Amino acid sequence: MAETLDIIAPFLNEAESATAFAGLLDKLEAAVGARFGLAVRKILVDDGSRDGSAGKFAAALSGSWQIVRLSRNFGKEAAVLAGLDHSRGDLVLIMDSDLQHSMEISLKMIGELIADPEIDVVYAQNDRREASWRRSQLARIFYKAINSSQRFDIPENAGDFRVMRAAVVQALTSVRDKRRFNKGLFAWTGFRQKAVLYSPEHRANGTSKWSRFNLIAFSLEGFTSFSVIPLRIISLIGLLAAFTGVAYGVKVLFEVLFYGIRVPGYPSLMVAVVLLGGLNLTLLGLIGEYVWVTLSESKDRPVYIVRDVLSGAEQASTGK
Ligand code: UDP
Ligand code: MG
Repeated sequence: MAETLDIIAPFLNEAESATAFAGLLDKLEAAVGARFGLAVRKILVDDGSRDGSAGKFAAALSGSWQIVRLSRNFGKEAAVLAGLDHSRGDLVLIMDSDLQHSMEISLKMIGELIADPEIDVVYAQNDRREASWRRSQLARIFYKAINSSQRFDIPENAGDFRVMRAAVVQALTSVRDKRRFNKGLFAWTGFRQKAVLYSPEHRANGTSKWSRFNLIAFSLEGFTSFSVIPLRIISLIGLLAAFTGVAYGVKVLFEVLFYGIRVPGYPSLMVAVVLLGGLNLTLLGLIGEYVWVTLSESKDRPVYIVRDVLSGAEQASTGK
């Protein structure tokens, strides 16, 4: 029987949202207590903010809370892991602190998880009503490609916004991938998962920390952490190119020997050189990506470093 809920929320420069988010957490805590009888602990992770966010959050939070301050910006994936490492609730909810993840969906997910003991995770799946057609098509292709060779499927458009049982948290924290791709890890750990559809709220303050370039780099990380498909595709293309080259060579030889045709050289040579040169460079870059991942893993540095942990007064007095 679940008795405690830890809410994990990473933040990077969200000072403007601090007061409103603390208010949302208060309301969520009251509702969760009333509906499900859960005691709430809030674990915020300061992912290297430089705008005084931590002070703002500390002033605004009430009840039992912690702010784990990382020594610099390690990225959201690492910040989420820091939160998970500091959690010990029977249930754990991960949400963004920029007010894009609503209380209603949080309550719905918690309700569904509590109602069915056969389920271990309930995650929010973005219905992408807001996204442009091109973006959603790109996302679809990404998931198709990355899921094409797995024993597990990474669900489309599902992020960190989710509730899970302690066993799942334990599984996630036991995976110490240095270059983390949470979407992949959530799927890789398995368990019984259920989706709840939602549309994220508009960002109230500031802008998303994801630039287009970031998104591309992040998708590549997904591949290098979870898929060998790109390498196989390139190897196949290389093989095909080699076969074509041999066939073409035989044809040329045949023509010269039996028909005395002079071989038109330059254009076909150029095509072959540019095509194969391009392919070679692409493959080298791709291998470089995988080597980089291997290198990061083998250095075995910690995923994040904690500077200090602030905590709420009530927490000390109740000894929770
Ligand atoms: N975030 C973080 N570290 C980062 C980038 C973002 O902790 O390096 C936090 C951010 O403060 C927010 C959440 O992660 O609470 C989601 O970030 P964002 O809103 O930029 O992403 P989006 O909602 O566009 O996916
Ligand atoms: Mg956001």
